[in-house]
Amino acid sequence: MNSLMKRVAISIHGVICFFVYFSGLHHLISVLKRRKPVILMYHSVNERGCPYVYPDNIVSVETFERQIDYLSREKNVISLLDLVELVRNRVALPPNTVAITFDDGYYDFYSTAYPILKRHMLPCTLFLVTNLLCRDEARWEDTLTGMINSATSSVMTLRLDGREKTWALTTYRKKRECIVELVEALQNSSDDRLRVLMEVERQLTPGNMKSMRVTMQWKEVLKLAEDHKLYFGGHSHTHPNLGDVSTDQAKWEIETSKEKMEQKLKRECRLFCYPFGKKRSFNPHVKTLLKALGFSAAVTTIPGSITRDSDPFELRRIAAIDDSSYRFKCSLIGLSLQRG
Ligand SMILES: [Zn+2]
Repeated sequence: MNSLMKRVAISIHGVICFFVYFSGLHHLISVLKRRKPVILMYHSVNERGCPYVYPDNIVSVETFERQIDYLSREKNVISLLDLVELVRNRVALPPNTVAITFDDGYYDFYSTAYPILKRHMLPCTLFLVTNLLCRDEARWEDTLTGMINSATSSVMTLRLDGREKTWALTTYRKKRECIVELVEALQNSSDDRLRVLMEVERQLTPGNMKSMRVTMQWKEVLKLAEDHKLYFGGHSHTHPNLGDVSTDQAKWEIETSKEKMEQKLKRECRLFCYPFGKKRSFNPHVKTLLKALGFSAAVTTIPGSITRDSDPFELRRIAAIDDSSYRFKCSLIGLSLQRG
């Protein structure tokens, strides 16, 4: 989807949500769906426009505060592990239930999101990429975001999908459009990704923007692990698309992340999150591997709610949007632009 189509889709979605919410339909649908729990997915809670974090991954701090306040007042927030037990036992699911999850181990979880969750005493599950923690590295999307946002160059030309394309990088908005377009194009090809990242670094003149830590280190994770309302799950070792790699490679990714998590945290690692989480990001072999390695469940980024018939190794999630008004409430009943 190009940026114009994206803006049009967001506007149409906003109008539909406005109508659904203020016509009372939202309340009716909520009542009808109250027995369908939702797993919410967050990545980064930061200042809107933070130059180091991939923009689509950010929920602003004020929005997060308001969302958490709403969830703690109106919803039955339980841990993902408790929800998984209910699903695995095929028992009735409590109404209005929500489980909160955070992917990728952003440093701002430790500095910003966790204090807010703690104030409300809400449980939360973090899915961590063990190689990033071991090497103190950011994910490639965030590295690319930082390089483009900090650049003083006004133009960049890259070869993508066999065609040459030039981007103007004169405003924050143009930079953001370029970043989102590149990340969407590079998500499925690690070869292209490496080539493009090297080319971006070669072409752009870095500005003197102060550097900032994007990913947590083990020392922060260990501090968080002292709180028993926080749970930790595997998210692979290097964050590849597990649907694309060989069975041996997938096994190594899952096994290595589980071993490292359990060694460091001294807790059993029973939950997994498929990197990228889309339908093509896992397959029956990957699910069989997870079961054989002792996992109880795995989450995706396929949008939807949870029922007692959900497959515990294909749990759907709703991506939290950077909005705390009727759009957020509508996303909890399934009205979202998220693609699976
Ligand atoms: Zn991830």
